[in-house]
Amino acid sequence: MKFLITAGPTREPIDPVRYLSNRSSGKMGYAIAEAAIEAGHEVVLISGPVDVARPRGVAVISVSTSDEMFAAVRQHTSRCDILVMCAAVADYKPAKVSKSKIKKRGENISLELLPTRDILASLPKDRQYLVVGFAAETENVEGNARQKLKEKNCDIVIANDVSRADSGMESDQNEMTILFRDGEIKSKSRAPKKIVARELIKIFENVCEKRLTKKIA
Ligand code: C5P
Repeated sequence: MKFLITAGPTREPIDPVRYLSNRSSGKMGYAIAEAAIEAGHEVVLISGPVDVARPRGVAVISVSTSDEMFAAVRQHTSRCDILVMCAAVADYKPAKVSKSKIKKRGENISLELLPTRDILASLPKDRQYLVVGFAAETENVEGNARQKLKEKNCDIVIANDVSRADSGMESDQNEMTILFRDGEIKSKSRAPKKIVARELIKIFENVCEKRLTKKIA
């Protein structure tokens, strides 16, 4: 199978030296890329700025902003069987990027933010590839993830509770709830991201196989 995986945060510039970003380490996306290679798949990894070693055999495309990630995903989906949107794409970006460094003054300043383009939600409805979204939540994890699956037209959503310090963002461990389009739900207890990644690859392979069998039948 041909995997297209996104990982890490995006950086939304404010001025030449400052940006808005988030705590995503990229570890989960990179672990999924590595596990897919181990299982004999082809992988293109679109990565935001992270400090994780590049897995051997993976073609890495480095991006920084959500707009760059949007363009890279749109460019590569035509050749993939599965898109795994593991990246923590910024939801907002500054309305204006200052050309020069904003000077410190003794007064309040405010930053106007615009919503970024949602990569998942903008994918064509009649696509051939499987789409996996991630939902990092701090409350009502399952309910919010179910809503995300519907609103963003995903085939699978993987939900994490990121309010816990020992799991999710930046951590080496992850615990997740996996929601499928047909209503099925699977829970995975806390385990190292590399182990979780291998389990996810098996799940993705099964879903792709089922879809293929359905198409042939
Ligand atoms: O809405 P929220 O950001 O929580 O959704 C998370 C999922 O949506 C992730 O799979 C992320 O990669 C994707 N996303 C996206 N485009 C954005 C923001 C998030 O595809 N602009």
